[in-house]
Amino acid sequence: MLKVNCPTCQTKVEWKPENKHKPFCCDRCRLIDLGEWASESHVIKGQSLKQELTAQIDEFSEDLPPADDSFFRH
Ligand SMILES: [Zn+2]
Repeated sequence: MLKVNCPTCQTKVEWKPENKHKPFCCDRCRLIDLGEWASESHVIKGQSLKQELTAQIDEFSEDLPPADDSFFRH
């Protein structure tokens, strides 16, 4: 039987269809984890990552030659 650790409390959880909360050991742990994802820390992390990517894309765009048809036709 495959066992996983509950992401919230690290309890060993049997990975079986009857376990509705897997990979969590119980509904409480599942809700705690969902709550953490919705918390501010995760939101800030996501925003900074997005800003980083946007900055990289801006840098990359500057290196591109001006978009004209001859560049695509060769
Ligand atoms: Zn748990």
